[in-house]
Amino acid sequence: MATHTTRMLIIGSGPAGYSAAIYGARAGMEPIVVQGLQPGGQLTITTDVENYPGFADVIQGPWLMEQMQKQAEHVGTRMKWDTIVDVDLENGSPFRAVGDSGDEYIGDVLVIATGAQAKWLGVPGEAELGGKGVSACATCDGFFYRGKKVAVIGGGNTAVEEALYLTNHSDDVTLIHRRDELRSEKILQDRLFASDKITPMWNKTVESFAAGENGALGHLNLVDTQTGERSTIEVDGAFVAIGHAPATELFKGKLPMDDGGYLLVEPGTPKTSIPGVFACGDVMDHTYRQAVTAAGTGCMAALDAERFLATLEHSKKEAVAAE
Ligand code: FAD
Ligand code: NAP
Repeated sequence: MATHTTRMLIIGSGPAGYSAAIYGARAGMEPIVVQGLQPGGQLTITTDVENYPGFADVIQGPWLMEQMQKQAEHVGTRMKWDTIVDVDLENGSPFRAVGDSGDEYIGDVLVIATGAQAKWLGVPGEAELGGKGVSACATCDGFFYRGKKVAVIGGGNTAVEEALYLTNHSDDVTLIHRRDELRSEKILQDRLFASDKITPMWNKTVESFAAGENGALGHLNLVDTQTGERSTIEVDGAFVAIGHAPATELFKGKLPMDDGGYLLVEPGTPKTSIPGVFACGDVMDHTYRQAVTAAGTGCMAALDAERFLATLEHSKKEAVAAE
């Protein structure tokens, strides 16, 4: 067990955490980034990224995050492969966090950039068949369904991208959505509707996932959201793509959150209700949830952290001078 001390402790290694680290390191705050279970964050489970500014050609999510990590390290950030399991915010700065490894992290400021995680439907069979046909990541698991029948559940950008990606492996992809209208961007919808490998199935929810004879996923039991009629669809793989929930379990009862569990910040800033604790990226943003907005708020968190530390250090000097 070791204790790691820094002026700037960052929890999370997605675009928000790495951007905060790049700015923080260049401001001399010698940041530590605790990376968590998914170093690089959500973009490491996708393929093409074509809306992150600065790249005329399509880039790959994992590559982009590798570059961000290298850039943060290059300017002086220390990376820790650990997951924070407890935080102590009660006594103000310095803040204390404890890692799964047993290591302790102490930071004069704390930047929370824990992002979001895939949501599950929570219906029978889903958890039991996880890894046996049920997945939340087509780019991770799509390869296993080459030439097979697959379904994607959801109607947002993620679901449409997952369906499009799966056409690299399967000629028979069904997109199951609970309404008759997609939420995803028009450009993605156009691609989806132009594909002869994808069949949209409207107004249906999955009631349960059922195993086939081999113990792996065999079919989905569906309910029509308009008529209540029940039906089944045989599939070898099902990809749940119904959005993400903010990773804020750690902060319950310690920081204010909205009904969806997103951390509340002072509007237009990354400031939480505790001075010296900042939140950036998807963990505090239920509206935009993009890599570039996460990076932008990460930058804001670092700039505000720097100002907070300057004020804190100035007050300490004044207190010493007054003694
Ligand atoms: P995340 O990327 O979610 O990273 C969170 C980090 O926190 C992770 O490193 C995790 O390990 C860490 N963490 C969590 N809990 C702890 C803990 N207790 N201790 C330590 N670390 C912890 N956006 C785009 O702009 N363009 C796209 O093309 C695009 N494609 C996408 C495709 C998919 C499949 C998905 C899921 C999302 C996509 N997005 C895209 C959205 C984009 O990925 C997110 O908006 C962005 O990654 C959010 O960044 P973040 O830094 O806030 O959090
Ligand atoms: P999302 O936009 O919240 O969409 C979730 C989808 O799942 C919606 O269509 C929703 O249906 C459906 N859904 C939710 N709960 C459900 C349930 N219990 N049963 C059935 N269906 C359910 O989530 P997302 O697609 O993951 O996108 C999240 C964010 O990441 C967005 O801001 C998105 O723009 C961003 N993102 C961007 C890109 C890109 O820019 N290329 C790619 C991926 C993600 P309703 O429509 O009926 O609500």
